[in-house]
Amino acid sequence: MSIADNIHRIQATIPEGVEYVVVSKYRPEDQLRQAYDAGARVFAESRPAELAAKASALPNDIKWHFIGHLQTNKLKMVLPHCELIHSVDSEHLMEAIEKWCTANGKAMQNILMEVHIAADESKQGFTPEEAEDFFKAGRDLKYPHLRLCGLMGMASYTENIDLIHSEFARIETLKKEILDIRPELKGTFKELSIGMSGDYPIAIEHGATMVRIGSASFE
Ligand SMILES: *Cc1c(COP(=O)(O)O)cnc(C)c1O
Repeated sequence: MSIADNIHRIQATIPEGVEYVVVSKYRPEDQLRQAYDAGARVFAESRPAELAAKASALPNDIKWHFIGHLQTNKLKMVLPHCELIHSVDSEHLMEAIEKWCTANGKAMQNILMEVHIAADESKQGFTPEEAEDFFKAGRDLKYPHLRLCGLMGMASYTENIDLIHSEFARIETLKKEILDIRPELKGTFKELSIGMSGDYPIAIEHGATMVRIGSASFE
């Protein structure tokens, strides 16, 4: 199947209100153009230099998202182009983004808090308990240039469907708990970025508002 066929077929399976984020990391520009011509406008990258190069080469009505581990010395490659960073995995990174925005006149950077929900030890992110404490203590208020738009998570890479369900259920519940603690965030803390090529239909059952689909879009 062509990339255009993939994009159209996947789009048709995604309900209204859920954003299809086309994960374009490591793909050459001509493949992104094919996706763009098929109607895709939201692309996600995981390497700063690759994001910067693609953002300057491709049409400027594309919304660029960042989904990789972000080192603070790479912010200048990402923040000028980036609509949303899904992968904010530490307060150290929040502080650095806040500082960069202040110094460079970016009024607001949309971010998601990455929460570690998988059994896999190596994955990045806040634990659910840390995320809850962060909001309980109002530490988000320390960052006036950051808009915390919601949560991002990755389920375990496994054939065990029950495990994937329970991990997505955990982050879905966490989002509700945070809004119970801080109901004034209801207007902005809306997004749940969960689900990839292998598990996005399960993620949609658990309230995903964004699904990040790479290989199924391009292969
Ligand atoms: C690569 C990646 C994806 C897409 O994975 P596929 O299985 O190719 O759909 C989604 N989210 C993150 C954070 C990724 O790094």
